[in-house]
Amino acid sequence: LLESKNKLIVGNWKMHGSLAGNALLLNALAAGAAKLNASVLTAVCVPFPYLAQVQTLLQQSCVAWGAQDLSAHLAGAYTGEVAGSMVAEFGARWVIVGHSERRLYHQESNEQVVLKAKRALEAGLTPIICVGETLAEREAGQTEQVLGQQLQAVLTALTVAQAERMVLAYEPVWAIGTGKSATVQEVSSVHLFLRRILAAVDAKLAHVRVLYGGSMKPDNARALLAEPGVDGGLVGGASLQAGDFLAICQAA
Ligand code: PGA
Repeated sequence: LLESKNKLIVGNWKMHGSLAGNALLLNALAAGAAKLNASVLTAVCVPFPYLAQVQTLLQQSCVAWGAQDLSAHLAGAYTGEVAGSMVAEFGARWVIVGHSERRLYHQESNEQVVLKAKRALEAGLTPIICVGETLAEREAGQTEQVLGQQLQAVLTALTVAQAERMVLAYEPVWAIGTGKSATVQEVSSVHLFLRRILAAVDAKLAHVRVLYGGSMKPDNARALLAEPGVDGGLVGGASLQAGDFLAICQAA
């Protein structure tokens, strides 16, 4: 059930950045990442307007990049939307889909998340599909029910060949940006639960990477990433400081 894979550490900048600040951060990441163990895969997911800058500054480095969302539509009269094919034109490899901030502030349903994941795959991007329970759901004992529904929606809509190419990120909503990470035991138990669902669909889905996200920092990364079944991290706040992000990559 638990096959070991290269760890993947993805920064989620959210709505942070400026051309000048990004340049400092990206150059520091490119330089630092060159010294990392080659088995660690790294990427940053940035706001759309910065994709060109990131492509320019990271293309000679081992750090990959991506976006934080994409449209569920292919093209057309959808003012303000950005298609996966546009993101891919800037050399992006990854795209976050279904982050809890999208689900909460933009009312994204499981159905829309699934459609976006499909669009990402069609555009040659790897979707990092986020699932996670709120504090109220956890306290009501509904964690597995909520996560099960979120994951089943994805697995029902994607073929096995498509699902094999996705990455999952378990991000408990109560741990995001709160400084309060889930414990290693909590993460481990949810990851095993998600893997059981994957395995029940097809043995090939043992290849799917499952990341953890939610207040991952240099001081808790090692323990979280050492857990069998935790294939990497989705890092918000700590991805905005090159030193912190690289320290997490080093811990992987
Ligand atoms: P955080 O965010 O690391 O700041 O908690 C993680 C995320 O939202 O992906």
